[in-house]
Amino acid sequence: MTQKTGPWRITFDTNPDDCNLRCIMCEEHSIYSPCQDKRRERGEPRRRMSVDLIRKVLKESQGSPLREIIPSTMGEPLLFRKFGEIIDLCHEYKVKMNLTTNGTFPKLGATKWAEKIVPITSDVKISWNGATKRTSELIMIGSNFESRLQNVKDFITVRDRIAAQGGNFCRVTFQLTFIELGLEEIPDVIKLAASLGVNRVKGHHLWVFTDQMKNQTLRRSSESIRRWNRIVEVANETVEKYRLPNGVKVILENIYQLDDHAIEELLPKGVCPFLGEEAWVSAEGRFGPCCAPDEDRKTLGDFGNLSEKSIEEIWNSKKYQDLKSNYLKHDVCKGCNMRKNIEDHCENNSEAELANL
Ligand code: SF4
Ligand code: SF4
Repeated sequence: MTQKTGPWRITFDTNPDDCNLRCIMCEEHSIYSPCQDKRRERGEPRRRMSVDLIRKVLKESQGSPLREIIPSTMGEPLLFRKFGEIIDLCHEYKVKMNLTTNGTFPKLGATKWAEKIVPITSDVKISWNGATKRTSELIMIGSNFESRLQNVKDFITVRDRIAAQGGNFCRVTFQLTFIELGLEEIPDVIKLAASLGVNRVKGHHLWVFTDQMKNQTLRRSSESIRRWNRIVEVANETVEKYRLPNGVKVILENIYQLDDHAIEELLPKGVCPFLGEEAWVSAEGRFGPCCAPDEDRKTLGDFGNLSEKSIEEIWNSKKYQDLKSNYLKHDVCKGCNMRKNIEDHCENNSEAELANL
């Protein structure tokens, strides 16, 4: 039987308007962002995806390369009232979940959430932006360092118990946004990850949404790039020296040296890691080709709505195929923080495949 074509992973923006924090770098919820105030002024309700739409896409993706879904990476997915139904759909359609959470584990607490999430999840990314209480809480406004730290410990206790009983192994990742304020603490975040059993430290450079964040990007000058490069060296030494409890190294992702070209273009020879690989679906059902900020993403084209078209139809459409071939003609792609070296891109894909075996 010929396999259908389609993405191997889909991110569903289930509830982008719901969050219990106001992180300074956040497009939607930052203390500096006007997005949520403007939404309220327009009298628009919070965007929430219909679970039926997720079911439709999973159903029509049977027999396709799809093997993983991500509930919203904007907003806190664990605040989505029907999150339990998404877990059920993962079991029903035999796809793994890949979760990004802010580590507050609202309503149920970390232990109960872990018992629900771990059996079906390949990787949980916990946003982590400092090794000290002061820095962490300055970046993730509204969070409490001690309680998030305890949550990570509780989550990992359940993760390890389930794995020891022969159940699914769920990797845990600290997810950073690389900014001035947290730069010096990156090596200590790695050290903390190793001591807690967090398998990976991953991040990306800042997308600047507000004037207040312009001085936080590490790509703004030769001088800031030089300081970033020094931290990369220390990070590589730290990862050798401080190992996970089982002796394995913490995986570092996207922590590599930059040259001065990065002010304009992060990696001039870098490729898009998402086109032809992954897909995004907005709360209203709009197909998105990548995770670029919403306004930038819209400049890449209108590919249709998944409540009206099938994912395969959009995936094979001329418009999407043209974008795949010509994306570097778009300004947003030229300056994109997500592009990767071709070798890293291939390595990460095979790593993702292994993680899903
Ligand atoms: S936790 Fe995520 S969605 Fe919430 S404010 Fe922080 S970055 Fe934004
Ligand atoms: S902005 Fe362009 S290069 Fe960046 S992730 Fe999106 S499609 Fe890929």
